[in-house]
Amino acid sequence: MSRLVIVSNRVADPGKAAAGGLAVAVKESLQQTGGLWFGWSGKIREETPDSADHGDVKLEAVGNVQLATIDLSQQDYDAYYLGYANGVLWPVFHYRLDLANFDVQFAAGYRRVNRLFAHKLLPLLRPDDVIWIHDYHLIPLAAELRAMGCGNRIGFFLHVPVPPPLIMAAIPEHEWLMRSLFAYDLVGFQSEADVTHFARYVESEAGAECLSDGSLRAFNRTLRVGAYPIGIDVDEFTKLANARDGVDMFLRMREEYSRRRLLLGVDRLDYSKGLPQRVHAFRELLATYPENRGSATLIQIASPSREDVGAYDDLRRQMDSLCGEINGDYGELDWMPVRYIHRNVARKRLPGLYRASRVALVTPLRDGMNLVAKEFIAAQDPADPGMLVLSRFAGAAEHLKEALLVNPYDTQGTAHAIQRALTMSLDERVNRHAALMSRIRQFDVHWWSSGFLAALEHAGLREDAGCAA
Ligand code: ADP
Repeated sequence: MSRLVIVSNRVADPGKAAAGGLAVAVKESLQQTGGLWFGWSGKIREETPDSADHGDVKLEAVGNVQLATIDLSQQDYDAYYLGYANGVLWPVFHYRLDLANFDVQFAAGYRRVNRLFAHKLLPLLRPDDVIWIHDYHLIPLAAELRAMGCGNRIGFFLHVPVPPPLIMAAIPEHEWLMRSLFAYDLVGFQSEADVTHFARYVESEAGAECLSDGSLRAFNRTLRVGAYPIGIDVDEFTKLANARDGVDMFLRMREEYSRRRLLLGVDRLDYSKGLPQRVHAFRELLATYPENRGSATLIQIASPSREDVGAYDDLRRQMDSLCGEINGDYGELDWMPVRYIHRNVARKRLPGLYRASRVALVTPLRDGMNLVAKEFIAAQDPADPGMLVLSRFAGAAEHLKEALLVNPYDTQGTAHAIQRALTMSLDERVNRHAALMSRIRQFDVHWWSSGFLAALEHAGLREDAGCAA
């Protein structure tokens, strides 16, 4: 059997809990098969005059997974990670052209680090390895590997959404970037909408032809594309919910909120998650449905994220001020409307928190998938489940139709949906939850990784291993 090689920007210790959709899912799939996980160590390398080679690859075995990591220089980190990946690609792919900073130095750093990854990974590869590259940080990695003679089977999965062609075209290097995807054997996206946007882009910008089997023909090669919506490990998550920490958390929260209804948001503090809009909608709920004053509490947990990127700092200030205002305007001596916590919650406690909540607010302005939505469903008591209010702009909305779908830009509409969730009958909640549960079981993380890898296996031998974008 071929060895699986996973490549992602960051490598996380598979033995430790991870926060972030990608790390959680990659960990699950690698633990099944074993293999090699290559990426950045998360450390910045000291610059020394003889460090032009960027240092050695550090190898470490954790169970059946071998971790291979490299450090980055401060300059590479600034240009590749902060500058291009999170200052250009992340905002543009989430439709936020206003937050993108198009600087040619960033693009150069992005290409440099992708070449560095290829250079360091290549000597570790065996001829029959299957390589699976993840996410927007590493779009041109296969093209760099091909240019160095790598003929292995290589798949790519994009965890973030694909914007419509005209938004993509705002990236000065869009042609190079999208063309470099054709160095892969298979490219997977989160949703059908993403596949459609990508196909429309290559049709209009590169004259691509859409073949009858769904693959795309352009730049003299044929690329398989498909939607592989990422899921969670449902059994592992329900087990967590029933473990001691999960149960303790549930009992503590239930006691604390025995006379109140709990609404919950769990996110990274990111502008794509629609957090200010969510607080506005909650405020609107209190204004329009005053019976919730004194009885409904929103707990918003927002883990610190990408604090070196300016837009994230602005968001933090905005959230501090919005939560302060609503508490000042509506709070009572014995009740505060919003509990805003700018921290990570231990993963083992999350299921208990989800289970104690009447309503989850998962209302991103744009999101590739959103795993919090699925975790919330998995953690519920099927006999008395909480209700999910879900943004129609999350990839998860393509499958989770029995949630209450909202447009997070529509403050009143969202407030109305929250009220509906709070007052929904037990029968309706049970029925909707059962349907949602069967959907997240069907499309779980094992389905995602084995489906992608099986498709990669059958993606057909490359016509030309020596392609470079
Ligand atoms: P993203 O990958 O954009 O962060 P997802 O919703 O797909 O969004 O995945 C987030 C993952 O990180 C989930 O597994 C969730 O449980 C975890 N997570 C997010 N925020 C927190 C938090 N504040 N504390 C603990 N875990 C978190």
